[in-house]
Amino acid sequence: MNDIRLWDIIRSGISGDIVLLGFPHDQGVEINGGRIGARLGPENFRSWLQGFGTIHNPERDIDLSALSIADAGDIPAEIPLPTAHTRLTQKVGSILEKGGIPFVVGGGNDQSYPNVSALLHHHEGNPVGVINVDAHLDVRPLKDGRAHSGSSFRLLLEDNRFKGENFIEFAAQGSQCSEEHAEYVRRKNGRILWLDDIQKQGPAVDSFKASLGDLAADCSSLFVSFDLDSIAGSDAPGVSCPGVLGLSARDAISIAWQSGLHPLVSLFDLSEYNPAIEDERTGRLAAGMFYYFCLGVASRKEMNDPGASGLGIRQGFLFKSRSKLRSMKPTGGNQK
Ligand code: MN
Repeated sequence: MNDIRLWDIIRSGISGDIVLLGFPHDQGVEINGGRIGARLGPENFRSWLQGFGTIHNPERDIDLSALSIADAGDIPAEIPLPTAHTRLTQKVGSILEKGGIPFVVGGGNDQSYPNVSALLHHHEGNPVGVINVDAHLDVRPLKDGRAHSGSSFRLLLEDNRFKGENFIEFAAQGSQCSEEHAEYVRRKNGRILWLDDIQKQGPAVDSFKASLGDLAADCSSLFVSFDLDSIAGSDAPGVSCPGVLGLSARDAISIAWQSGLHPLVSLFDLSEYNPAIEDERTGRLAAGMFYYFCLGVASRKEMNDPGASGLGIRQGFLFKSRSKLRSMKPTGGNQK
C-alpha cells in the first residue's frame, strides 16, 4: 500500500498530464546504416518501468499521485515506415489537443520530425523551440526520398513553420559529425553546443538549463528530443550507435528532470534505445529518465497551482500566468 510505484498509477488512454507513446520502428536506423533492434525499445522500456520509481519521492519531497499519467500504447509495428510516421504525427497531435505532454519512446530518431511536426501544427503561428540532445547533428539528406534516423532535424530546418534560430544541437561530438553538416546547421541559424565545450563549463545540466532559458525567451512552446547515444557508452551501451564519450547517466537524469520542470516543455522524445545490443543498463536509465521527467512535471504543476501544496512557495518559485512565464528564466529560485 505504501510502496506504490509509478507504473501502478499509469492508466491506458491518450488523456493525461503526461502521455506515454511508443514508436516501435527501426527501419529508419537501417536506412541510415545503423544497427537495428530499436523497434524493441518501447516494449522493453515498459518492462523496466514496472516496479521502478516510488510515487512519493522522500529525497525530493515530491508526490506523483496528483499527476495523471496515461499510456497511449504503440504506433502499430507492422505498418510501413512512412505510414508509421503519419500515424505518429496524428497521435501526438491528439495528445496535445487534449492538453497532455507526449513522452514518445522509440524506435529510431526518425520519430523526431513526425513528433515536432505535430507540435508545429498545434502551435501554428507561435514560435516553437527545439533542443536536440544527441551525439550527432541528424541533418543528413533523405536517402532515395526516404526519411531515416539521421534526417529528422534537416526536415525540421527545411520546414517553413520553424525558425532555425530556435534550434539548439546539444552535446554533439565533433568526431561523429561532418563539417558539412555543422555548416548546414549554422547556415540555417541553428546553434551547436559541442560536448567538449559543455563539459568545460561544468555540469552539463547547467548548459542545458541555459539553453531552455534562451529558447523560452522567444518561444511559446519547447520540444526536447533526447537521443540516448548522447550518453557515454559505459552508461548507455544499448543504443544503435554507441560512443565512448558522452553525457553521464546523472546528466541524462538531470536533463529529464529539468525538461519536466520547465513550464514551456510540451513534448519530449527518447530515441535509439536498442535492447538487442544491451537491455538492462540502458533500459533502467531510460525508465529513470521518464520517472524524473514525471517528478519535474509534478513539481511544475505545484508551482503553477500553489493552492495544491506549499511546495511552490517553499522553492521560491511562483508561476502565475503564461505571459509571466515567458519572461522568466528557468534558472531562478533554488531548484536543483
Ligand atoms: Mn540521433
